[in-house]
Amino acid sequence: MEKIKMLTPLVEMDGDEMTRIIWQQIKNQLILPFVELKTEYYDLGLENRNQTNDEVTTLSALATKKYGVAVKCATITPNKQRMSEYNLKEMWKSPNGTIRAILDGTVFRAPITLPIIKPAVKTWEKPITIARHAYGDVYKATEFRVPKGKAELVFTDEKGNEQRETIYNFECDGVLQGQYNKDSSIKSFARSCFNYALNQGEDLWFSTKDTISKKYDHTFKNIFEEIYINEYKEEFEKNGLEYFYTLIDDAVARVIRSKGGFIWALKNYDGDVMSDMVSTAFGSLAMMTSVLVSPDGNFEYEAAHGTVTKHYYKYLKGEETSTNPMATIFAWTGALKKRGELDNLPKLIRFGETLEKACLDTISAGFMTKDLVSLCDSSVEVKPMLTNEFILKIKERLQEIL
Ligand code: NAP
Ligand code: MG
Repeated sequence: MEKIKMLTPLVEMDGDEMTRIIWQQIKNQLILPFVELKTEYYDLGLENRNQTNDEVTTLSALATKKYGVAVKCATITPNKQRMSEYNLKEMWKSPNGTIRAILDGTVFRAPITLPIIKPAVKTWEKPITIARHAYGDVYKATEFRVPKGKAELVFTDEKGNEQRETIYNFECDGVLQGQYNKDSSIKSFARSCFNYALNQGEDLWFSTKDTISKKYDHTFKNIFEEIYINEYKEEFEKNGLEYFYTLIDDAVARVIRSKGGFIWALKNYDGDVMSDMVSTAFGSLAMMTSVLVSPDGNFEYEAAHGTVTKHYYKYLKGEETSTNPMATIFAWTGALKKRGELDNLPKLIRFGETLEKACLDTISAGFMTKDLVSLCDSSVEVKPMLTNEFILKIKERLQEIL
C-alpha cells in the first residue's frame, strides 16, 4: 500500500514518562507504516524543557500558531519532588498553562464511548463534551485570611476615579477573595464554543449562576447572548442547532436526565469540576480526549490524563504494564483528521477515521487494557492485554479494514 501523503507538518509535542513510551509505539506501529508523516518536532520532555530554560514550550506554541494543528503528549508539571528527581534549574510552569496563554483558547473534553462500556448514568446515549473556559476567576484570585475589621472592594479607573463598596464588617476572623475576568477572554471563549458546536454539529449549552452573581456571571451570560445573536444565530438555525442558556443548577439536573450528544460550556471552576464528574461517569480518564481550540482557528490535541507515573516506575523496573493508549491515539487521529480537513486531503481524514474504528472494534471484540476490564458489560468475554499487545491488536484490525 502506498503511504498517505501530507502537505503541512503537524506540530508534534513529545512528553514524559509512560506516555512518552506509548507515544513512540503509536507512531511506530499505527502511523508511520501508513502515513508519510510530516511533523515539526518539539521535545517537551522535562529534561529538554530544563535544558532550554522552557523555551521549547513557547516555541512549540508559536509553531502551533503558524501551522494551526498540534498533537501533544502528556507532560510533567514540576513540583518540589520533581525538582530533585530531575535536578531542575527552576520549577518550570505547567506546559499546558504556557501553551494556553499563548493560544488563548478553550479546552474541550469528550469521552470516547463504546456500547460495551456503559456510562454510570443510564440515560446517556451519546458523549457529552465539556467546554471549559481556561482563564481567570478563582485560578487567578487574590486571597486574604483576615482578623476583625472592615473589608472593602475598591476600584480606581485610569483617571483616578474611585468605586468603593463594603464587602463585610468582620466581627471575627475570616477569609476574603478577589476574582476577575476580562471581556476579551470571555468573548474568545464564547466564539470558540460556538465554532466548535458548528464544527461538531451539536447543540451548545451554557450555564452560570447569573441570578446570584448579577454582574460577574451575568456578564458571561450577556456576552454569550450578544455574540450568539450577532454572529452565530443564523448559522445555528441553518444547521438545525440550538444555543441554550440555563442556570447551572438547572443544567446539572438536565444533564443527568439527558441523552447526551451536546456541548456544555462552563466557567473555569465549573468546567474543572464537571469534567472530572462527566469523564468518570462515562468510564475512565484514559478514555477522555482533550482539544484546545483558539478563536483564530488553531487546534492542539492531547489526552486528558497525565504521564501515568506509577506505570512508568513499573516499566523502568522491567515489569509489565497495561497502560491504556486510547486517548493518546485519539489525540493523533484528531490532529491528522484536522490537518486533512484544512489541507483538503480526504485520504488522511479517512485514515484517521479508520484508525479510530480499528481501536473501537478491538475493544468491542473484548481486547483491552486492564483499566477497562471492570467497566465492561458482563456479557462480553474480556481478554486483558499489555500495552504493546493491545497496540499490535489494533494494528491487525487497522490492516484488515484499511
Ligand atoms: P495520571 O498520569 O493521569 O494518572 C493517574 C492514575 O490514573 C494512574 O496512576 C492510573 O491509575 C490512571 N490512569 C491515567 N491514565 C491512564 C491510562 N492511560 N491507562 C491506565 N490508567 C491510567 O495523573 P497523575 O498520576 O496525577 O500525574 C502524573 C503526572 O502527569 C504528573 O507529573 C502531572 O504533572 C502530569 N499531568 C499532566 C497532564 C497533561 O500533560 N495534560 C495532565 C495531568 C497530569 P492506576 O495507577 O490505578 O492504574
Ligand atoms: Mg481538575
